[in-house]
Amino acid sequence: MKAVVYSGYGATPVLTDVAAPACPADGVLIMVGATGVCRSDWHAWKGNDPVELPHIGGHEFAGVVAAAGPEVTRWRAGDRVTAPFACGCGRCEFCLAGDAQVCPRQTQPGFTGPGSFAELVAVHAADANLVTLPAGVSFVTAACLGCRFATAFRALTAHGRIRPGDWLAVHGCGGVGLSAVLIGAALGARVVAVDVSAAARERARELGAEAVVDAGGVRVDDAVTEITGGGAHVSVDALGSPALAADSVRCLRRRGRHVQVGLLPGGPVPLPMDLVIGRELEIYGSHGMAARDYPAMMSMVADGTLRPARLTGDVIGLDGVGAALAAMDAPGSTAGMTVVKLTGG
Ligand SMILES: [Zn+2]
Ligand SMILES: [Zn+2]
Repeated sequence: MKAVVYSGYGATPVLTDVAAPACPADGVLIMVGATGVCRSDWHAWKGNDPVELPHIGGHEFAGVVAAAGPEVTRWRAGDRVTAPFACGCGRCEFCLAGDAQVCPRQTQPGFTGPGSFAELVAVHAADANLVTLPAGVSFVTAACLGCRFATAFRALTAHGRIRPGDWLAVHGCGGVGLSAVLIGAALGARVVAVDVSAAARERARELGAEAVVDAGGVRVDDAVTEITGGGAHVSVDALGSPALAADSVRCLRRRGRHVQVGLLPGGPVPLPMDLVIGRELEIYGSHGMAARDYPAMMSMVADGTLRPARLTGDVIGLDGVGAALAAMDAPGSTAGMTVVKLTGG
């Protein structure tokens, strides 16, 4: 099969012929229809998130089941599916409770094994991890859902418990942040988007932000508190930085909820715990979304309440993956999510 392979960290990814992955006994092989190019792929390629070399990246995919292992009961060849980026083992107490996103034995195609920058990708524990694609949702649209969009959706709904009319502050308007802006606005929240980039703020406005704050120009907590008349009900650090995380907590209304979505690889981060006590704030970490929680999101995508296609940027072929990864050497762009399209549908 064709796949994009790199043999060393930072080495140019090459489109080449490789052996197809084996089909796991409890898993499936998926013929990839489309797959997103995410900054997490870039981190793996650069060696910031170690993988086994040579490696095939890619973790935001949708396609058709090509083969199912003998232990799989719910899926068969021809099913249109997608999967979360973190796939649970399907057997542990967390998976059985529906929380595969925190499974201690989770597998992640594109990180713990070969990914979806390929014609075929293997998914383990398919009965626990695959999600049906509604007929009206294309592979390209679905490829934007598995990582950044689903993560933002769960951060706002499960943790933020956002309600119509609530103020939502989004700190950092990259892929996750812009997803949060779009989802928050679609769910009826009033969104304040915070970013240092004028282009990112403009994009956030287009996607439904009612107000924007230039993080480089003012004290963010004061600005958000003023705009929202006392602080945000829900606030998200969508980028991952100690300063943004602290701003996100400080800009909350009393009884407000902070959700940490952006990764903080640098280790422990100081937060204003005095405010957490005095204002009875809630602090959550959010790590993707398990397959169990997809149907609610998917039905909102299918009925047009959520329109993730608005976040899609360039649509490229497998031969463009190397250049798309290299383009991420520059800081975040607002051009939208780059998606690799392999087949129609
Ligand atoms: Zn598990
Ligand atoms: Zn991703």
